Amino acid sequence: MESKVEKQLIVYDFDWSMADQDSDRWIFEVLAPDLRRKMKNLKNEVQWTDLVASSLRELHARGTPREDIEHALRIMPFHPAMARAVKTLKAQATPQTKFLCLSNANSVFIPTILKEKGLEDLFEEIITNPAEWDPSGLLKLRRRIDPSAVQHECKVGCSPNMCKGEELDAFLERHQTKFDRIVYVGDGSNDFCPILRLRSSDIVLCRHHRGLQKRIEREGEAQDLKATVHYWAGAWEVEELFQKHLTK
Ligand SMILES: [Mg+2]
Ligand SMILES: [Zn+2]
Repeated sequence: MESKVEKQLIVYDFDWSMADQDSDRWIFEVLAPDLRRKMKNLKNEVQWTDLVASSLRELHARGTPREDIEHALRIMPFHPAMARAVKTLKAQATPQTKFLCLSNANSVFIPTILKEKGLEDLFEEIITNPAEWDPSGLLKLRRRIDPSAVQHECKVGCSPNMCKGEELDAFLERHQTKFDRIVYVGDGSNDFCPILRLRSSDIVLCRHHRGLQKRIEREGEAQDLKATVHYWAGAWEVEELFQKHLTK
C-alpha cells in the first residue's frame, strides 16, 4: 500500500517542457533570423544568457519595438493540452498541488507567455534569470548568478549560471512544506541535476529524444537516480500521465 499523498509539488522546466519551443531562440527566429544564426555560431564561445542579452541589444539597436517581442512571445507554440493539464491539477482538492518553475529563460519571457495562456497565477515561484524593460524598450537581461559573484558548487555538470538542483533544494528549504510527492517535468541536460535530488516516491516526466533522456540513460544508474521516470513526446501525454499518476 502506498501512503496517501496530500501535498505534491510539480517542478517545471519552461522551454520545451511547459512550452513547446525555446523562448530565447524563438523570438530571434521570428524577428531577426540573422541574429538567430549568429547565436548558433557563437553559442560555444559565449555564455548563453550573455549571448541572449547581447542579441537583445542588437535587436533594440535595429529599432525593433518591445511590442514586437511581446507579440512573438504570445504566438510561441504552447500546447493547449499542457495548459489544460496544469489547470485541472491545480483545481483538484486532493492531492493539493503546487507548481514551481526552474528555467534558464528569464523573468519577462516566462510571465508574458503564461499571461497569454491564463496561467499567470500558476507558479508559487519562477526561478530564472532577471530581466526588465527599460523605458526605451530595451529588454535588459542578466545572469541569475553574476559572473563576478561566487558561483554555484554543482558537481554534476550544470551550466555556470544556474544549478537547478541547488535551486530546488533552496526552494524546499524556504518553503517549509513537506511534499509527499515531487514531480519534475523536464527535457534538457540541465534538468538532470535536480532529478538526482528526488526520492523513490517521486516522479520524473522526461521529454523524449532530448538532453535529459540522454543523461538519464548514460548516467542515471551511476548517479543513483531514484525517482520513477516516465517518458512523453507531446503535451497531451503529460496530461495523460498527470491523470494516471497524480490524481491520488
Ligand atoms: Mg527545457
Ligand atoms: Zn547542478
